[in-house]
Formats: sequence, C-alpha cells, structure tokens
Amino acid sequence: MSGVTTCWSCQGPLTSGALFCDTCGAPSAHLSDNPFVVFGLSQSYALDKQALEKTYFALSRQLHPDRFAAKSPKALMLALQHTATLNAAYATLKDDLNRAIYLLRAQGVNAFDEAGQGSTPPALMATSFELHEALEDATTPQALQSMGQEVTTRVEYCQKRLTQAFAAGDVPAATLAALELKFLQTFRRDWQRKTKQMKDTA
Ligand SMILES: [Zn+2]
Repeated sequence: MSGVTTCWSCQGPLTSGALFCDTCGAPSAHLSDNPFVVFGLSQSYALDKQALEKTYFALSRQLHPDRFAAKSPKALMLALQHTATLNAAYATLKDDLNRAIYLLRAQGVNAFDEAGQGSTPPALMATSFELHEALEDATTPQALQSMGQEVTTRVEYCQKRLTQAFAAGDVPAATLAALELKFLQTFRRDWQRKTKQMKDTA
C-alpha cells in the first residue's frame, strides 16, 4: 500500500495514498477508495471515533474548494473529487455496521451482497420472525416502548460481539453479528414507524 509516486503539479515525490503533496500542497491525482487508507489508518475494526471525526474535519477544511479555486482548474477538480471520496470514507468508517461490512467484504465474505443473500442463519430468521410478530401484537405505547428497549439491548450486544469477533480474527462470528445488526437496524425503522403512527393517531 505504501510507495512513492510523482506529484502532477510540482513533480516532487508523493507518498501514494496521501491526499496532498507535501511540497506544493496540490491534491494528489489518485486517491485510494479504501476508506482506511484515505484516513491514514490501519485496516482494523477498532478505531477512535473522536480522532476519526477530528481528522475528517481537518481534511475537509484542507480540501475546501476556496483554497484551490485560484490555483488551477485541475487542483480544484481534484479537491472536489477528494471531498466526495473523503465523505464516503467517513460514512463507512464512522458507522459500526458499514465498517464491519467493508472489512468482511475485504475478507471475501459475500453475505452482504446480492449474490450472498439467502445465507441468513436459521436462528436469525427465527429471531426476525419473533420480533416482527411481537411488533404486530404491540398495541399500547408501553408495549412498544419495552420492545424499543429490547432492540437497543440487542444492538448493544451485537456491537460488543462485533468488536470481540474482529479482535479475535473470527470472521464467521463477525459475519453473524453484522448480519444480526443489519437486521436490527432495519427492524428499528419498522418499530419507529409504528411508534410514530401510534402517536399520530392518539
Ligand atoms: Zn507537488
């Protein structure tokens, strides 16, 4: 992943993966689409979200179009492209599920792609069925509220499992926890919809 290329603007040496040339400050011509490389991080699930946010805002400021508008059309165009790449990388890294899916895909797991659908484990199918049935049966705000708490507890447990599985390099366990987290996030939207409906009709 490391290596040195040449800056398109000043012809000086440029570390591949770097957003800018250290010598002239021009945006690099090529930027990795690996979100970890964009942020200069090692490819691991555990990360410091506060540091990530700080880096994101710092890089966003450095890439601000106003800084490049007067320089050259190419620098401006690259700064805009890098901003889009940076935003996408940030969205992938800051979200626990998106970051997990990215890392699992990089390991060849296809459970989150169209080709890999249908690989939902039976236990998760059963949980899904139970939760949806319970949601249909919930007719009071209290019942919905307690379901909401249950989902929050399950989400937190999934996040804990994800962290442990990635730390242990256990790809199957990480895949399972990520599949469950994905399901729970979708389910939470159904739950929110029903909670809102109940408030609106009350
Ligand atoms: Zn340069």
